[in-house]
Amino acid sequence: MTPLLDVRDLSAFYGASQALFGVDLAVGEGEVVALAGRNGMGKTTTIRSVCGLATARAKTLRFAGRSIAGTPPHRIARLGIGLVPEGRRCFRSLSVRENLLVAARKGPWTLARVEALFPRLAERRDQPAGLLSGGEQQMVAIGRALMTNPRLLVLDEATEGLAPLIRQEIWAAIRSLRGEALSIVVVDKTLSELLPVADRCVVLANGRSVWTGAPAALDRKMQDRWLGV
Ligand code: ATP
Repeated sequence: MTPLLDVRDLSAFYGASQALFGVDLAVGEGEVVALAGRNGMGKTTTIRSVCGLATARAKTLRFAGRSIAGTPPHRIARLGIGLVPEGRRCFRSLSVRENLLVAARKGPWTLARVEALFPRLAERRDQPAGLLSGGEQQMVAIGRALMTNPRLLVLDEATEGLAPLIRQEIWAAIRSLRGEALSIVVVDKTLSELLPVADRCVVLANGRSVWTGAPAALDRKMQDRWLGV
């Protein structure tokens, strides 16, 4: 079966400097894929390339059966890739509810469903997003991406900088998305929390994908080699 997202031999560039040298990333329907690798190994650049936000070239760059090479970011979003970027950008002066509603597109995800997923957002729906905690802002960012009714949800640094309790809420929400008609790519620095939510892990090193497999198959030696600090 062809995967929902099919990326083969991806290269990416920042001006004259090359950041990716051959990344393969396939994501099946309903699959949760962890993208792992040390700092600077190319995770964000891979995500940005898939979303049309980086200068990229690939042998294959296909989403939902069509080529997305050279497609501008807003069109890729409309095709069904919902990005939760690093640093959880939301509109700080808009209310929580407005932040969610401006992203809305037709589909199963509605304000009510996002508020059911994150009850804290229902409690704070009229507050300006800028006044929320970092964790709550991340919930807004995830909620916004869901409101676009994506087929693929991409989370860069899902829980970075968040307190332990709220991290658990974010992971629980991500786990509960499994079984929805949704595929997920997720990046996070805390491997012990990231790997258990994933069906498969893709490891990047020096701008290349070097390993893929079930998280349980990623043994100590491989973790030390590619993922240790
Ligand atoms: P991190 O966990 O630190 O975010 P990452 O795995 O996401 O790391 P990238 O941010 O994709 O890695 O970076 C991959 C490479 O591209 C690095 O060598 C980095 O220095 C380089 N790079 C990233 N952003 C830029 C930029 N704006 N201009 C030039 N080089 C960049």
